Amino acid sequence: MEKNPLILVVFLFFSTLFCSGQKISIPSVIDKISGDSIFYDIEQLQGMNRLAPDNDRECTNYITEKISRYSPDTLFIQEFSAEYDLSNNLKRGLPNIIAVRKGSLYPDSVMVMGAHYDAAFVPGSTPFNFIFGPGADDNASGTSGVMEIIRVTKDIDFHKTMVFILFSGEEFGLHGSEHFVENRPEGMENVYAMLNFDMISHDSNNGNYTVMIVKKNASLPLAHKCILAMEKHVPGLKYDELTTDDAFSDHASFFRAGIPAIALKEGSTSDEDFNPYYHSLGDTIGPSANSPQLAELITKAGLATLLEIDRNGNLANVGLASTERLLSVYPNPVFDVVTIENFSEDGRKRKIQLYNSFGHLLQIAKTRENKTQLDFTPYPKGIYFLVAGNQCFKIIK
Ligand SMILES: [Zn+2]
Repeated sequence: MEKNPLILVVFLFFSTLFCSGQKISIPSVIDKISGDSIFYDIEQLQGMNRLAPDNDRECTNYITEKISRYSPDTLFIQEFSAEYDLSNNLKRGLPNIIAVRKGSLYPDSVMVMGAHYDAAFVPGSTPFNFIFGPGADDNASGTSGVMEIIRVTKDIDFHKTMVFILFSGEEFGLHGSEHFVENRPEGMENVYAMLNFDMISHDSNNGNYTVMIVKKNASLPLAHKCILAMEKHVPGLKYDELTTDDAFSDHASFFRAGIPAIALKEGSTSDEDFNPYYHSLGDTIGPSANSPQLAELITKAGLATLLEIDRNGNLANVGLASTERLLSVYPNPVFDVVTIENFSEDGRKRKIQLYNSFGHLLQIAKTRENKTQLDFTPYPKGIYFLVAGNQCFKIIK
């Protein structure tokens, strides 16, 4: 899909939030996630037309009715129209479905967890004949993973507001997520992070369960939280990281608005992990959606990330202007001093900030120099985030 063309606004803020209120055991909540429950919903959804015109909302109704059983504080559908431009009567698709668990301590701080529930058109049996695809892995699986998280958090008191969104219109240009980002309902203006599930149920290499964390430099602190949460709570899941500007799923709409976002997706960056049934009639339970175990692990990883950030999270939110030239920052890992080059070639004064992995500001400096250095000797071994101008780097000492 298209590349990100926009200059994003840099913003930094900290939510200095501390654990209080109702105590929960995070492992016991995560333990309730069930691959079989996820696959039950995948099976229902793969049989429904998920790119329907206005008069057929079987899948929207199915998802909405099911979520309503899990007592969200609010549940509503957000209508939008988009030109799909592909076939006769499809001027308009399905709406977004939004479920909210309101934060008890910080209701204005919003984290979004999303997945698209529409499915792609796929080639039919004759040339130029496209028909509705079953979309079991892409993306009934992510949709069902989000529904499963809503199910198991039925009795959880979130400190910050959790907004769960099943997006539509993804397959023709991220329309649903773009509409949400640009038309946020009241109370959802302050989204500090977004987590996206897109394709979480296909395992290509027989039980070598791996998830890919798709991110941009701006989402490094969020990706780091996700990795810590996974290592702590979902040790059976390996991970790989992909940093990309490619806008291949709904998290990109959040990138564009300067909101840190990541996607969790099955497999690794190696080609052999690619699902060969993607966007085909074969994207069904069996060949394509073939691993309740992997779907369960990735859903657990998503839930672990949400709960850790909600309970224990100081998250430094760093937006990034994607059009900036790339700085060189070396060495990394660093021992004593890190050098930043190509920093201010036009002689304008620019700012450098150093944060630790909890989002605490350690150092701030301003310089007009094109090459500058930062002293790491006072700091212990660990992971740091260096924000130089409007770019963010993960530095390991
Ligand atoms: Zn998808």
